[in-house]
Amino acid sequence: MDWKAIEREAVDVLSEYLRIDTTNPPGNERQAIEFLSRFLKNEGFAVEIFAADPERPNLLCRLDSGQDPRGLILLHHCDVVGADPREWAVPPFGGVVRDGYIYGRGALDMKGMGVMELLAFVLAKREKLPLRKDLVLVVCCDEETGSRYGAEFLAKNHPRELEAAWVLNEGGSGWNMGDREVVLLGFGEKGLLWLRLGAEGKAGHGSMPHGQNPCEKLLEGLSALKAAPRPLRVLPEMQALLRNLGLTDLKPEELEAHPLLKIPLLRAMFQDTLSVTMLQAGFKPNVIPTRAEAVLDVRVLPGRSIADLIAEIRENLPPGPFSLEVIQSFPPSLSPVENEFFECLKQTAEKFFPRALFLPCVFPGFTDSRCFRELGTIGYGWIPAMIDPEDVTRVHGVDERIKVSDLGTGIQVVWEIVQRMVGKDQR
Ligand SMILES: [Zn+2]
Repeated sequence: MDWKAIEREAVDVLSEYLRIDTTNPPGNERQAIEFLSRFLKNEGFAVEIFAADPERPNLLCRLDSGQDPRGLILLHHCDVVGADPREWAVPPFGGVVRDGYIYGRGALDMKGMGVMELLAFVLAKREKLPLRKDLVLVVCCDEETGSRYGAEFLAKNHPRELEAAWVLNEGGSGWNMGDREVVLLGFGEKGLLWLRLGAEGKAGHGSMPHGQNPCEKLLEGLSALKAAPRPLRVLPEMQALLRNLGLTDLKPEELEAHPLLKIPLLRAMFQDTLSVTMLQAGFKPNVIPTRAEAVLDVRVLPGRSIADLIAEIRENLPPGPFSLEVIQSFPPSLSPVENEFFECLKQTAEKFFPRALFLPCVFPGFTDSRCFRELGTIGYGWIPAMIDPEDVTRVHGVDERIKVSDLGTGIQVVWEIVQRMVGKDQR
């Protein structure tokens, strides 16, 4: 295989893909899906499109094994979060290739992995890989605002077309931390609860406090919620991660105080969390308003329900004129970790990143995998690149980029997974 040529091809494809602005909201993913459809049709594939809204299509392309339809889905989402070009050193939708990197909104999250999967997918056809199970490419819209037009729509309306045993998606990645490398493989995701907390009060003049100021009530409520204890919870499936980090045999208070657990990403894997992300009240310096509100982003580990969580939040609020409104929620999701797909990803990680610690984990953020897990598909998250921590902060941030060499390696990794999971002679 001429991997250098494939890497060059991937750079061109990704650069063009990044030039299509799929900022969500509003999404407008149609152009991106058309671009990918053209590429696949040129390779001789038949493409299926499923859409709740014609401007927001999803793409599915199945390489038929003629034997077992329950094979492997390569999944990615084609929408991205917004980018302010004034903050960026390069145009966020310019597809700029410079100094060994490809820049653009979505380079890591997740058009980059999309291109790794796309190229591995077409390689299966170009190389005439004999298949024992189907290989499926799925591209969803609307992941960044909660998947209503994307994975949720597909799972609800087209479960038969999504038939597969396994799905590979984002929700984990390699990290190059200088002295050590890790591969975080997401086998589950925390549940999500977005809440609007309102406090009612009485209007009045700012110069004459009357004790019914909704802003002050809201602050009291938020302080109480932030002060509520959130003990660490170690899921049985997370023991392996602790062991691999050398954190076994620690008492809860020792684990709590360990420097590694100060890393926000790691800590969030062992704790339910609550963040205040939006605040709104008032319109004039000397007017006490009648209402103040905050938006809370609450995430829950497997083992507790969303209803439990809401009950706990109500309990933790002090008495007062508070209202709670659920903006969006979905439960935690988990895939089992002892099966051939898990073993394949572990062995592939060891082959391509021999220095890296392999760390299966519950990912704090949400991805489309949860919709596939509900259909009974085993889903894992792994962007198969070795990303520098500095580049991780560029995801949803400024000057997002992916290393050209990571893109190239990623295609080889996905190709390895494809051969092992659905190839005929590779068992
Ligand atoms: Zn993403």
